[in-house]
Amino acid sequence: MVRKFLQISLLMFSVWVGSAAQVMAQSPNIIIILTDDQGYGDVGFNGCTDIPTPNIDRIAGHGVRFTNGYVSFAVCGPSRAGLITGRYQDRFGFGLNPILAPEDPNMGLPLSEETLARVLGRAGYRSMAIGKWHLGAHESLHPLKRGFDEFYGFLSGGHRYFPEEWTLQDLSEIQHQFDGYRTKLLRNYERVEESAYLTDALSREAVEFIGRNPSRPFFLYLAYNAPHTPLQATEKYLSRFAHIKDQKRRTYAAMVSAVDDGVGNVLDRLEMLGLDDNTIVFFLSDNGGPEKTNSSDNGPLRGQKGDLWEGGVRVPFAVQWRGKVPAGMVYERPVISLDIFATAVSQAQAEISADRPLDGVDLIPFLQDGNEAVPHEQLYWRKFKAKNEALVDQSGFKYLVEESGARASLYNLREDIGEQHNLAGQQKRRVRRLRKIYQQWLAELMDPTFMGLSQRKEYYEKMGIERAGE
Ligand code: CA
Repeated sequence: MVRKFLQISLLMFSVWVGSAAQVMAQSPNIIIILTDDQGYGDVGFNGCTDIPTPNIDRIAGHGVRFTNGYVSFAVCGPSRAGLITGRYQDRFGFGLNPILAPEDPNMGLPLSEETLARVLGRAGYRSMAIGKWHLGAHESLHPLKRGFDEFYGFLSGGHRYFPEEWTLQDLSEIQHQFDGYRTKLLRNYERVEESAYLTDALSREAVEFIGRNPSRPFFLYLAYNAPHTPLQATEKYLSRFAHIKDQKRRTYAAMVSAVDDGVGNVLDRLEMLGLDDNTIVFFLSDNGGPEKTNSSDNGPLRGQKGDLWEGGVRVPFAVQWRGKVPAGMVYERPVISLDIFATAVSQAQAEISADRPLDGVDLIPFLQDGNEAVPHEQLYWRKFKAKNEALVDQSGFKYLVEESGARASLYNLREDIGEQHNLAGQQKRRVRRLRKIYQQWLAELMDPTFMGLSQRKEYYEKMGIERAGE
């Protein structure tokens, strides 16, 4: 009897191990390469001519270039909150850019939300976050507390690039918001001595992480802070751009070029290990370029970082999955960064909670030749404080309220990518219909649960935080 039971148990165990191994073998690795404040026009695959990006272009060449790829917000923090949860961040009160406040457990991604790392971790994935976090600096909001197995980077919203400028041991020493840019980097919870130019260090960590995980599914979140300010580059990269006379643009170009080298190293390592046909690699920027600040270029788009004009939210966006999505495809229907989460969990067959429905879709079926289905009927944006509203529908019409209290405008992005011709006067019924759809979405959102960066004086006063340097 006992023996029989053991035999059956062993049989069941081997069936279970067998099927688990099968699922694991099929689960694709997921890599998200996120840049910071890179303009729509600043990649070769979107027509950039003064900054070659041959490696970033490899992703689009091996896979798909999204001409109408969006992020869910026009500045860093909320855009990342949407990306990492797969949900419009206003559903959980992350409508503002957070203040760097390591004392405050509420200043960041609420614990009620799950990151992609957490969800994939349950499906057997090993995960690492590299670079900029910006989803909370309190210890309870640290990447390792949010589902990542490894972390190398910094918790603040930006960072200086030269190691000799990293003079602060810890966030407890900050006197000013931007002192966070001067901390030593973290490896998991430990401050480390790093000697490389920041972008190179992050690329090195990414390559090493891939090398440590050749035979189990992994999720790599490679969040470069380049080319966000401060504009700082090494001679190695600057020397490539002697032809650019404008100093600011030249340094920006060098920073993008450093990222491009890193992307090349990541792709090379995947190919060397034979992982490239089992790895989905996404590339995108977290918001549009702030053209005046970092000399980025949003190409034909109107507006810049911070705006709900296309220049704020439409970004360079590409994905490769060799053998699974067609090489060299150009995809023009609107897609959004929120789709990355949905794609990853669907392809990994990971389970998500019904309490937190996703706003994205699995993009892979849409990228098969001949599939004319529409990923999204509408995409939405809200800037809470400014009361700005935007909606893009699948046919390319955009409803926009760009200033608080202003009348809605309407653009046909297919014919007017630069948002120059307001059609609201001619198409009142369409405006009314889109407003109604927008308002239904609005009713599902929460007000921000924390004060934003621009309210920091008021915030310090309320919290009794001393920041002598502010
Ligand atoms: Ca950004």
